[in-house]
Amino acid sequence: MAGKVFVSGGSGYIAGFLIRQLIAEGWEINTTIRNLAREAEVRGWLGVDNSKLHFFAADLVSDSGWAQAMAGCSHVAHVASPLPADKPLHEDELIVPAREGALRALRFAKAAGVKRFVMTSSVAAISYGHKGQTVFTEADWTDINSPDAYAYVKSKTIAERAARDWVAAEGEGMEFCTVNPSLVVGPLMAPDFSTSLESVKKLLEGSIPGLPRLGFGLVDVRDVADLHVKCLTAPGMAGERFIASGPFLWMEDMAAILRNGLGAQGRKVPKRRLPSWLMRILANFDPLVKQVVSELDNVRDNDASHAKAVLGWETRTAEESILDAARDMLRLGVVKL
Ligand code: NAP
Repeated sequence: MAGKVFVSGGSGYIAGFLIRQLIAEGWEINTTIRNLAREAEVRGWLGVDNSKLHFFAADLVSDSGWAQAMAGCSHVAHVASPLPADKPLHEDELIVPAREGALRALRFAKAAGVKRFVMTSSVAAISYGHKGQTVFTEADWTDINSPDAYAYVKSKTIAERAARDWVAAEGEGMEFCTVNPSLVVGPLMAPDFSTSLESVKKLLEGSIPGLPRLGFGLVDVRDVADLHVKCLTAPGMAGERFIASGPFLWMEDMAAILRNGLGAQGRKVPKRRLPSWLMRILANFDPLVKQVVSELDNVRDNDASHAKAVLGWETRTAEESILDAARDMLRLGVVKL
């Protein structure tokens, strides 16, 4: 089965690997970027058969361009959503484009006769606001009223809920499902990388003085792309929700992987643990520390057994993903030792 897939946000990290895999499997792609002046740059990273890839200008917060970009597409992967490194001035900077973008993509998809719609949500929509719980499944939903639900977490939860509500009310004839990744790492196509690779970058360049007790479920960008492709093509996906995650690792574990795997190139990776009591004191003086303090000592282990059982999805090891990210950062000059 191959036809034309609409992928929103062709300049993004996950979208790039998804576009590559889809084109390798025989699909043609319509993708969006906010500014067509970036088309040549993005084509350069992707390195795919250019005749199979078409760019359209579209923004999550405007109707312009969406109808043209969806025309002739039977499948949609709605991947674009804001994922900034810094805290926004107001949470609506993330919530509005995330929610409005998802609804806009759904409306235009229905009008274009799209049959299958896969939305990139996040474990951010699953695992926040449940104090004491450490393992999460697709049955869990983030409580956006909880104090640990920061702007990005709210944006992903609100967008996924709004999309599911819209599909229940108006989505007849279109199968909808979500992929909910944890922290995405792995190889880079270009020096313009996703915020999710910041922790690997900071460890590699030694720009943090030690290792706070912060942990993440990690997943490889190639495995996330592959799960999207499975969701686009497998039968019976209506209403499905799939966590895309590998193991939960503390920063200490990530640092050990970098040091053991990189030899001399891992020389700046910190070794010292930063105790959580010290981090809590530092948070009074350092806004960056303040941003992460509510995450200290939290275990959010996302169980991806549903995707494995239903779709035969498999993941690379965390070692491979972290070391591929680090080696590409060195190769592309993102980190200079
Ligand atoms: P990314 O590299 O930052 O890509 C985000 C994409 O969204 C970019 O193409 C960006 O376009 C686009 N975008 C943002 N605001 C937009 C707007 N107002 N209008 C149009 N496009 C807009 O991030 P990513 O890691 O690939 O993330 C992609 C998706 O995966 C997002 O939905 C994110 O929430 C989700 N996700 C990511 C992770 C992770 O760890 N990376 C984990 C879970 C879920 P520009 O290039 O123009 O900014």
